[in-house]
Amino acid sequence: MDRRTFLKQAMAASSAYAVANAARAQDAESAAIRRIAVEETFAVPEVLDALRTLVENEPDREPGLNAPPYVVTDTIRTLTDLGEARIAAMDAAGVDLQVLSHWSPGVQPFDPAQGNELARLVNDRLAEAIGRHPDRFAGLALVAPQDPQAGAQELERAVASLGLNGLLINSHTNGEHLDDPKFWPILEAAQALNTPIYLHPRTPPAQMYDAYTDYLMDRALWGFAAETSLHVVRLIMGGVFDQFPRLQIVLGHMGEGIPFWLSRLDEVSARTGMPQLQRSPSEYFRDNIHITTSAMFWDPTLTLCLDVLGAERIMFAVDSPFASLEQGTRWLDNAPISDADRRMIYQENAERVFSL
Ligand code: MN
Repeated sequence: MDRRTFLKQAMAASSAYAVANAARAQDAESAAIRRIAVEETFAVPEVLDALRTLVENEPDREPGLNAPPYVVTDTIRTLTDLGEARIAAMDAAGVDLQVLSHWSPGVQPFDPAQGNELARLVNDRLAEAIGRHPDRFAGLALVAPQDPQAGAQELERAVASLGLNGLLINSHTNGEHLDDPKFWPILEAAQALNTPIYLHPRTPPAQMYDAYTDYLMDRALWGFAAETSLHVVRLIMGGVFDQFPRLQIVLGHMGEGIPFWLSRLDEVSARTGMPQLQRSPSEYFRDNIHITTSAMFWDPTLTLCLDVLGAERIMFAVDSPFASLEQGTRWLDNAPISDADRRMIYQENAERVFSL
């Protein structure tokens, strides 16, 4: 072999070695990322039965209550499974840990006594499932906000005794929102426990429902985000974060549209005057709110949210089983962001926010 051929082969071998080495390093790097999905849905059969009974007995109790497909058996089967089938789906998508929460609207439509009882049942079931698979599941408690004192006590039990990782509230309760001081015992308890509140969508309340009845607009198409974004703006403009400066709210669906809107909230609120607020809306949003990627696997939205909030305020979520776990991980694995940001979004922020 002449010198030229030798050098050529040596260089090819060395560059192949370098490429293989880089690939191995990259594998090790991505293998070390713990993929945590933080808005993953389950359901307790007793709650579904109680919701069915409520709709049958009081069809006019709340307009949106007829909306969820409580009778779709495949969905119900997927939702109620907290064992092998769920874990197999997580494995197939490369999801290491699901932070579970109960299907909307949870226990919020019930009378206070029934709501409290079902919330305790849900939290006990969730803690049992986590106990069986502590390396695969964590979870958010439910409470009945319609009984704020009992709700605050149940949150304390769920976090301090059962070891759950936060609270999930399905937006409005009988048309009322958490800026109403009557709900503040729950916010006070969450702040004292240093535990976050995931503000999850549900169908709009009676006073805005009529405009959403056509084209299935009351649900995921538009109504969920319309109601939940309204709720968040009410929290901000109602001075809730002046009252509870350490409270952390988590919003799904890339912040329910608010990150897109922050500059306008600042500009209009400054112009029209909300003098009782200590800070601008965007400052509260950046300090008191985290957002998640649930069911919003779109690079342009991620880029905007990274720009206005920073990676430390964004967490990975899928909204399974209503969105695809595999679509979620494939998207974030390949999203055009730095590996440091990817690690924060997949893992580090969730570990910090939910005490995982
Ligand atoms: Mn959801």
